[in-house]
Amino acid sequence: MSFIKSLADRERVFDFLVPAQSPVDVRHGPILYLEDVSVSFDGFKAIDDLNLTIDDGELRCIIGPNGAGKTTMMDIITGKTRPDSGSVWFGSRHDLLTLNEPEIASLGIGRKFQKPTVFEALTVFENLELAMAADKRILPTLTARLTGEGRDRIEEVLDTIGLVELRHASAGILSHGQKQWLEIGMLLMQRPRLLLVDEPVAGMTEQEMERTAELLTGLAGKGKQSVVVVEHDMGFVRSIARTVTVLHQGSVLAEGSMDRVSSDPKVIEVYLGAEAEEEVA
Ligand code: ADP
Ligand code: MG
Repeated sequence: MSFIKSLADRERVFDFLVPAQSPVDVRHGPILYLEDVSVSFDGFKAIDDLNLTIDDGELRCIIGPNGAGKTTMMDIITGKTRPDSGSVWFGSRHDLLTLNEPEIASLGIGRKFQKPTVFEALTVFENLELAMAADKRILPTLTARLTGEGRDRIEEVLDTIGLVELRHASAGILSHGQKQWLEIGMLLMQRPRLLLVDEPVAGMTEQEMERTAELLTGLAGKGKQSVVVVEHDMGFVRSIARTVTVLHQGSVLAEGSMDRVSSDPKVIEVYLGAEAEEEVA
């Protein structure tokens, strides 16, 4: 009974009850493309002519001071916020501005919020099972026996997220870092093509941060996932980053390798300078 209640509490499970969409087409271009996107809240431009291109299989880090528009950017990609102007494409086939949140999720765009939202009363395995059931868009399968294929997929994901040994532990006893990995695993059960991850290492130990870096770099790759990570921890960004995009006042201030953007005077002024002040304070 409590299982069903917890299901009902998590409307997100039902979000996936939408018609199947055709797969993303990345044959001729990027997996995600934002062009001249703007949005204002009460006259304040939170996103201001933003342009962003993410290639298939890329791991991209997005940094920027508080209020730069990072979360709003993710809200726009996932359909939570509609921009006032601009275009947002997922591959060359899907105009995301014509789709609602569940439709965008079902295309294979998974979003990991900062706070882990696993079912604490269920085991690690059951959490993954539940995420898979949501993917199949058939709630009755929750009570049915797992198919061999489903079981294999869960094992695969358990291995990816490093929780094989803890499969029968209830999620409530996991450390903060382990809960974050489990939630990433739940997103992986849906076989996403693009993962948006908001501040994954906040509150993690050094060791957990290292394992998270391995996990995210391992997920990214052509034919696997493209991963967009928003993160404040500069050490972490340095450890995983290929290309870094610096957002400031709703648009791209700088983009390139970590070494390149971190030596850019504009970036030092608006972001690294601010961080250094915080560290001193
Ligand atoms: P970041 O994630 O980079 O810290 P946000 O995207 O959360 O920045 O916010 C960008 C700016 O937009 C901030 O000034 C924030 O106060 C404002 N903002 C974001 N969402 C809303 C909203 N729904 N209504 C009004 N203002 C908002
Ligand atoms: Mg934010």
